[in-house]
Amino acid sequence: MVKVTLLGVPHDANSSYLRGPAQAPPLIRRELFSDAYSLWSETGVDLGADVFADAGDLTFDEALDPWDVIAHGVEAAAAAGPLICLGGDHAVTYPILRGLRRRHGALTILHIDAHADIYHAYQDNPRSHASPFARIMEEGLADRLVQVGLRTVNDEHRAQFERFGVEAYDIRRLPDPASLRFETPVYISVDIDALDPAFAPGVSHREPGGLTTRQVIDYIQAVAQPVVGADVVEYNPTCDIAGQTALVAAKLVKEIAGMMVRSHQT
Ligand code: MN
Ligand code: MN
Repeated sequence: MVKVTLLGVPHDANSSYLRGPAQAPPLIRRELFSDAYSLWSETGVDLGADVFADAGDLTFDEALDPWDVIAHGVEAAAAAGPLICLGGDHAVTYPILRGLRRRHGALTILHIDAHADIYHAYQDNPRSHASPFARIMEEGLADRLVQVGLRTVNDEHRAQFERFGVEAYDIRRLPDPASLRFETPVYISVDIDALDPAFAPGVSHREPGGLTTRQVIDYIQAVAQPVVGADVVEYNPTCDIAGQTALVAAKLVKEIAGMMVRSHQT
């Protein structure tokens, strides 16, 4: 049976507006392993049957570049098999991919978000949580980038889509999940603000008019290639209401893990 490694990445220093996502990993774990819920995925995988290997949270030493800490931590944690990183803000996806890419010859990213996060730099910060996908595509850390749920696209984003060949789906033109045909192993990056704030209020940048929890799960469950890595980022506990968003994040982790197990069995 394949193991799914969990790794907390409690880092939010590159958030442009609010801090808070660094507090997320233990709160997502608490919901994931709460006795209130079953650990079976909807897809029929018993995640309670010794599936998760918890690698704990990364710790950041002032003397080290946090991007090196994340890339090295991910490279080590991914040695055992598929890996889910618990963010942290979305800036961490770039060093995560640096650590993961070496293990995979070809990789497609399915990025679910209200925002494209592909500014060359934001507030003069090239490491901003609004820029990870610019760095990822510049370095060739993904062969293909598919973004869904976008509802904040501007002209600079459109120029970057053109430059990097991004398949960007505005929320008004959402593709049928089954129509996204992936031809390589897949990395899933879920920004919790992709969901409508009615479902997930615990985010730094609430963007109304978003995806339902069901729609996000449908995208996850439609991936018909091995899911080799994932992150669930931008959960901000300081903005949450009664832990509602932590539970949504845990549910998404559960369904991603279920797909990882299934896709590595067949
Ligand atoms: Mn976002
Ligand atoms: Mn994002």
